[in-house]
Amino acid sequence: MAHDPKIRVAVSACLLGERVRYDGDTKPHTWVRDVLSREVTLVPVCPETELGMSVPREPVDLMGDPGAPRMIGVTSGEDWTERMNAWCRRRIAELTAEGLDGIVLKSRSPSCGVGTAALYPEPSAEPLQSDGLFTKVFRETCPDLVIVEDEDLESATDRQDFLAHVQMAAARRCD
Ligand code: SF4
Repeated sequence: MAHDPKIRVAVSACLLGERVRYDGDTKPHTWVRDVLSREVTLVPVCPETELGMSVPREPVDLMGDPGAPRMIGVTSGEDWTERMNAWCRRRIAELTAEGLDGIVLKSRSPSCGVGTAALYPEPSAEPLQSDGLFTKVFRETCPDLVIVEDEDLESATDRQDFLAHVQMAAARRCD
């Protein structure tokens, strides 16, 4: 596929090699960073650092009601929920206003996970599987947008399917 800059895909910044994770590390995804980047316009986004969390930082967990999870610092108990949800709504409005055709997020993150973030209904309970807060607001705001995480893009077929989805979305958006 030739490069088409009109196709815009938001990506968790740590998948592009940015050192934004809570531990100061990164999790580059080779296909996204080196191949997808040549075919579409990638828009890096990191909910936690863009919200103002430091690098490195205290990790956070999702806790409480699965329908309305809270984002809580694992040691301090600091509650980030309202700030994160408000930031997500603002950032998603910006991204969609600029035009967005899909999103690739980091698995298992309490912000970015796509059904793979751990959520603790009670402090000592076994975790459930949840969307991260950014993903949750994305689904509510843009129900038709294709949302995948890095682990959904391991096979050639999955990658082709994702590309086909974002191409179709861009064609509809730019008509
Ligand atoms: S998973 Fe999301 S919040 Fe965490 S470092 Fe990556 S982009 Fe930032």
